[in-house]
Amino acid sequence: MEKKQTNFFNSLSGKMLNYTVIPLVILAVLVGIVASTSCRRAMISMVEDEMSKQCSYLETTMDELYPGDYSWEVVSDDSFRLFKGEYEITDKNEELDFMHEVYDNEFTIYLGQVSVLTSCKDDEGIRYILAEAPTIVRTSVIENGETKFYSNVTVAGEKCFAYFKPIISEDGNSYGMYAIYHSAADINKRVGSVVIPLYVLCFVAVLLLGFFSTYYSQKIVDRILVVKKFMESVADGKLNSEISSYYTSGLDELSVLAKSSVEMQNSLRKMIDYDTLTEINNRRFANIYIEKMHEEAGIKADYCIAIGDIDYFKKINDTFGHDAGDEILRSIAEILRRNVPRKNLVARWGGEEFIFAFNETAINEAEQILKKCLIEIRNTSFHYYDKEIRVTMSFGLAKAEEGRSADAIIMQADDMLYAAKGGGRNRIVL
Ligand code: GH3
Ligand code: MG
Ligand code: MG
Repeated sequence: MEKKQTNFFNSLSGKMLNYTVIPLVILAVLVGIVASTSCRRAMISMVEDEMSKQCSYLETTMDELYPGDYSWEVVSDDSFRLFKGEYEITDKNEELDFMHEVYDNEFTIYLGQVSVLTSCKDDEGIRYILAEAPTIVRTSVIENGETKFYSNVTVAGEKCFAYFKPIISEDGNSYGMYAIYHSAADINKRVGSVVIPLYVLCFVAVLLLGFFSTYYSQKIVDRILVVKKFMESVADGKLNSEISSYYTSGLDELSVLAKSSVEMQNSLRKMIDYDTLTEINNRRFANIYIEKMHEEAGIKADYCIAIGDIDYFKKINDTFGHDAGDEILRSIAEILRRNVPRKNLVARWGGEEFIFAFNETAINEAEQILKKCLIEIRNTSFHYYDKEIRVTMSFGLAKAEEGRSADAIIMQADDMLYAAKGGGRNRIVL
């Protein structure tokens, strides 16, 4: 079967990055676009509002200072006399200049299609008088009398924000207009001064969120990898592998998973090393234990092996039943476990046989321990329901000798057990 390669994008880290950082980037870009668009719209609407007020102010001021309608008298091709009501206002640009000073906008008054008063000057300081009105408003504002606002009108070669209000004669006809202009580049700069920090803020927020989510995702992935490695080694049969308590001591799901895998390892170890009926170590464990003890003892050969076998156990099974036999096996294992010091081993060798490994123990010391077991078993009345059962046990004991294998010592202990049986049972032979 083809093995799938784990690369960054199908790894857990890659997936977590996909699920956290990429949506964050998309979200930040959307927030940036929506925020900057709304911000630009709000600023444009503010400019329109301000221009509308300034235009009304200009109109009121002109009407109060010079009541009546505008009119003009053409003097030559490029000169004219301008009137408002009965006042001559030719070249009276003071009001428009004053408003330009105060509001930083350009103000122009058009009669027909041309400018007659304006605050707007060219590079040489000459006013744009008799300049034509932008084509876009000639019909709508001047002829049809509509008020208009644009954010993109070209005036004297420059893109402008512009507000236009028609001038209506006393008999209700539109015959000119008030116009206010402001450089679009300038307003866009103002919009930019608000929007750019907003973009920078979004970008920094994405960077920070991305960094933290990647950092914490990676930490989680690292923890998962440690648990995975531990479980793989347990699956490989390495039941002595260890995992640092750092990974099992927390309360979160991953710590619980790590704890469960340690419990699984312990259960497996128990299943492999222990006998399920008597709950003491089994033959497999005893073999490994004895081999190790033999190696460690080396030429000192300072250990003893014993094998114990319950006497006439078949008869107990036959008389009281197999379950009663099991109960006796459990009770005897408990007596042996209690009497054999912790530094030694007692294990179920098979059937109703038990093996003992006494490391760094003299043979008479081992004999004393077996004697205590023998006497306690001999003197115990085992109970199974209302039945009282008495049993005895025989033991064969052998001392290790330099140059002899552990198997040879076990065989010798078995021979001694055979001798104990032959000698009448309920005894220890060494
Ligand atoms: P001896 O004194 O010569 O050892 O006689 P014995 O009857 O104990 O020996 P034998 O080998 O004839 O019989 C052993 C019996 O132990 C036979 C078997 O059914 C029983 N036995 C082995 N394992 C178990 C077990 O796990 N539970 C029970 N209840 N009986 C078991
Ligand atoms: Mg027996
Ligand atoms: Mg037997």
